[in-house]
Amino acid sequence: MVLQKVSNFGLYIHTPFCLSKCNYCDFPSWENSLQYKEEYIRLLIDEIASRQAEFACKKAQSVYFGGGTPTLLELADFDNIFSAIENSIDTDAEISVEANPTLSLTPEYLRGLKALGVKRISFGLQAKQDNLLKLLGRKHDFNKLRESVFAAYSTGIENINVDIMLGIPTQSIDDLKDTIESCIKLPIKHISCYGLIVEEGTLLKQNIDNGVYSLPPPEYERRMYYTAREMLIENGFEHYEVSNFAKGGYECAHNMGTWKRKPYLGFGVAAASLIDRNTRRQNSTTLSGYLKGEKPKYEKLSLEEEMFEHIMLGLRLFEGVKDKEFFNLYGVHILDVYGDKLKPSIEKGLVNITNGDIALSLKGFDIMNTVLLDLI
Ligand code: SF4
Repeated sequence: MVLQKVSNFGLYIHTPFCLSKCNYCDFPSWENSLQYKEEYIRLLIDEIASRQAEFACKKAQSVYFGGGTPTLLELADFDNIFSAIENSIDTDAEISVEANPTLSLTPEYLRGLKALGVKRISFGLQAKQDNLLKLLGRKHDFNKLRESVFAAYSTGIENINVDIMLGIPTQSIDDLKDTIESCIKLPIKHISCYGLIVEEGTLLKQNIDNGVYSLPPPEYERRMYYTAREMLIENGFEHYEVSNFAKGGYECAHNMGTWKRKPYLGFGVAAASLIDRNTRRQNSTTLSGYLKGEKPKYEKLSLEEEMFEHIMLGLRLFEGVKDKEFFNLYGVHILDVYGDKLKPSIEKGLVNITNGDIALSLKGFDIMNTVLLDLI
């Protein structure tokens, strides 16, 4: 049997610099690190050049500049990076840049990004209330976010996302409603609404362990999630992934690729790649390691691991996992592999089956981990 050839992939470029470290953040980002920017960009471009064979004769459908804070880069830095990848980007590719509203983006800077091909900007807001922003260690207020969104929009970058968070210590449902109400008045097309995850080694974790703050009870967080969902749907946002909502046609193509387990190539410190769907590459996870030229790690996935990942990621999507796509990739039907294991979830109404396609019900979304545990 000839399985489907890989014709679709995304590029991810990591920028590790941040002006300050947020209290909850365990992303690969470092404050006081901008002095390494020139060297970092040079190594990043070297990495792209040395891996040309991985994407020769292919065009990326999406390019994602994540961070850290990519907008700490100058236009000349973006220009150099784009020169290294320009022959490998599809003309219709979605090109996204993450931005922190703390940095005021000038119209000139935004026009420069647009001229380089940037079509989407994703701003991290998290919450509207100053007390919550302070607790999270964010250095901006809602006005900064509003100004940034309007600045991007008036430059002609209309595909704008705002990240918001729920489950923050001391956050009330009214706080969340106020945040959402204020965001949906802005000219934005997408809202990511994530539950706070308290990560080891963060200041927030320390504060929680020391009793300075406590997390809202899980039941209250679930009510927050449903409140957000209801408000966003009422206001024309489609709930297309567990934590993501978009106006029609503005789903994040790059993340959709990840959830559909399309290959992606990541460049820069801590960047991960999924090569040919069966090999994972992990770049050095520390800035010092990357700058010293530490070798990446490779992991070959078994067919079982590939299939499980496909289901695990695909179930995050409201549309679920299509049997035809699954069969084209792995040569077997979903239910032939997972039918028995899915039975309890189907009986409990957590998973729906339609012509062999599988998707979580709303209740299933809520306790997704229970469904996934049954599949292991
Ligand atoms: S701006 Fe983003 S990447 Fe930087 S420290 Fe804050 S959460 Fe982490």
